[in-house]
Amino acid sequence: MHRPCVVLTGAGISTESGIPDFRSPTGIWAQYDPMEYATIDAFLADPVKVWDLYGRRLDLLAEAQPNDGHVALAELERRGWIDAVITQNIDRLHERAGSEALVEVHGSIRTSSCLDCGEVVPFADVVRLLESASAPECPSCGRILKPDVVMFGELLPETAIARATQLAAEARLLLVVGSSLEVYPAAGLPLETLATGGILAIVNRGATQFDRRASVTIDGGAGETLRALALGLPARP
Ligand SMILES: [Zn+2]
Repeated sequence: MHRPCVVLTGAGISTESGIPDFRSPTGIWAQYDPMEYATIDAFLADPVKVWDLYGRRLDLLAEAQPNDGHVALAELERRGWIDAVITQNIDRLHERAGSEALVEVHGSIRTSSCLDCGEVVPFADVVRLLESASAPECPSCGRILKPDVVMFGELLPETAIARATQLAAEARLLLVVGSSLEVYPAAGLPLETLATGGILAIVNRGATQFDRRASVTIDGGAGETLRALALGLPARP
């Protein structure tokens, strides 16, 4: 049976593209109370207030470019070394780098949706709507759109979680990049791999709770490490 190589990425791969890890001590939730800005209840109570903060973050996300880490993973997928990338990131940088088998467990900024009529609006249109309004309204019914990222207090996207869990359980190798493995569901995925006899490799700045159970740990940057990995792994025979 083919056991895939699966990659799991977190905020650490995108910090090198200038997107701050929002959970870090200098991140956004050190300045703003997540209970006031990042929960689904806060959004439903005052969507304009939440968009005011979120909209400023979108500028940063719109300008960010995939870095060597994203590019290397896309290249390794094309060469047949990697079967899928599971990501906690919502920034679309894997997609823009060319990764195709992508599972986004926290949603993505790719679209925003209307909670009333179900209209789905792509990122570029949301950015355009924000040029003339503090929050984007649904083009069909006028309700303020919700970004399709998972907010605190919201259920995780069921299909993505099921797929991620399946991939982790099937993986011969789970390569973790830029995740401190503290937040579920990502924190549970290494257990799936280990339970079925797969092995774990971790590239992260700082220790994780799984370091002792990993076959390889590299305390380093995602970009330089993955670039070196891609150089060492030419097209698969
Ligand atoms: Zn609508």
